[in-house]
Amino acid sequence: MSPRDPSHEPVSVGPTQDEARLRIQWRDGQASEYWPRDLRLLCPCAGCVDEISGVRTLRPEAVDKGVYPTAIHYVGRYALPFMWSDGHSTGIYAFEYLRQLAETRRAPEAGIAEPRVSGAGSPEQE
Ligand SMILES: [Zn+2]
Repeated sequence: MSPRDPSHEPVSVGPTQDEARLRIQWRDGQASEYWPRDLRLLCPCAGCVDEISGVRTLRPEAVDKGVYPTAIHYVGRYALPFMWSDGHSTGIYAFEYLRQLAETRRAPEAGIAEPRVSGAGSPEQE
């Protein structure tokens, strides 16, 4: 297991002031904001991404425009599992994955950028 960077842990997770986005405040002082539907579309679980090929099988048109997380629980010290309003609850978002998402998405209008996540430390291997 690779050592995890403790500064990449969230200290708080919650809605932004306008409640439109999800905000994560990280231990190193950075803050990331996400559109809930973007996070849902980037769900890393085996039901949304083919485990063998890594190809995303989730179709954006199948995801409700108003989807939102109904619950977020901490899993140990490495990931956040999201429960979604559409009933989907198998996606476990590693902290590093969430950090990468925030760094990859510089221009929201340009669409969703899918980060490359290395196999080491991905949630489904633990
Ligand atoms: Zn999923």
